[in-house]
Amino acid sequence: MHTCTKCHKDPSVYFRAYSGEYLCKKCFVRSIEDKTARTMSKYSMLKYGERVAVGVSGGKDSLSLLYVLKKIFDEHDRGKDDLIAVTIDEGIKGYRDESLEIVKDFCLQLGVQGKIMSYKDLFGVSMDEAMVLRPSEKKMSSCSMCGTFRRRAIDLAAESVGADVVATAHNMDDQLQTFMINLLAGDVERIGWIYPEPIEYAGGMKKIKPFVELYEHEIVFYALQREIPFQSEECPYMNESIRTDLREFFNKMEGEHPGIKNNAYASMMKVSEKLRASFTEPRGDKKCRLCGRDSTGDVCSVCKTTKSLLGQASQIDR
Ligand code: SF4
Ligand code: ZN
Repeated sequence: MHTCTKCHKDPSVYFRAYSGEYLCKKCFVRSIEDKTARTMSKYSMLKYGERVAVGVSGGKDSLSLLYVLKKIFDEHDRGKDDLIAVTIDEGIKGYRDESLEIVKDFCLQLGVQGKIMSYKDLFGVSMDEAMVLRPSEKKMSSCSMCGTFRRRAIDLAAESVGADVVATAHNMDDQLQTFMINLLAGDVERIGWIYPEPIEYAGGMKKIKPFVELYEHEIVFYALQREIPFQSEECPYMNESIRTDLREFFNKMEGEHPGIKNNAYASMMKVSEKLRASFTEPRGDKKCRLCGRDSTGDVCSVCKTTKSLLGQASQIDR
């Protein structure tokens, strides 16, 4: 049994291979909370007084983020309504119902307001229905369709509660995968969007990712140590994507060379920052001609997807 390398008092519960530290429970959870606060200040994520909507799905990352932000807000005497959980109900029977209950109970326990919005109400179609309706000739993967809807739904939910900022629980592993996916797809411009310093543009919601400098497996361990309840059930529509391969690749590399994710992340952020600096036009200066929201083309991806799905709505057994 090792003693904690930081406090030299309590027995360690965690070995941080990349730093060689043995940490007790108290020092481990504090390291996660301090790192989150440092990341937020390093990238100027929040200004005092901004109201934050946290995208909470019921998974370990998002519930942990809500917990950590609540703690930071309490320490800074922030108002009760400055932090709100927004949850999106995709309409996936058997899967989403359980997590909605977990989120509701956890918000109550923390004393945080919660808001739930559904795909069905917002876009007229649930994920269960979308899976039946998606045109077979166009390859629409469940997760890309769902991701398109989710980003918009979170924006709409955040706007409806008067938030200035949307916080999501993307971690370092997510960022590494996204970087590689864009690189492998030749989508260089998108790499500039990964850099964690939020861009503020007229009419847009500021997006922040306070967990970007944390390893995914440390967030899982944090949730366990803090006894944060989370859904472990997997979505029935999850598709095996290149993201899964990249996750396995980086985890294997980290296992053999502790700290390699940190190094890769630091290099990727340098590249991303350089690309960000080369942006001349703010994103979203075009508007979708159907819904009027920010869009990169004439019609936004949400409108394209709903049109293509609901064009076939007669197939739904109502
Ligand atoms: Fe949506 Fe894919 Fe997540 Fe399921 S796994 S909730 S389909 S993004
Ligand atoms: Zn649109």
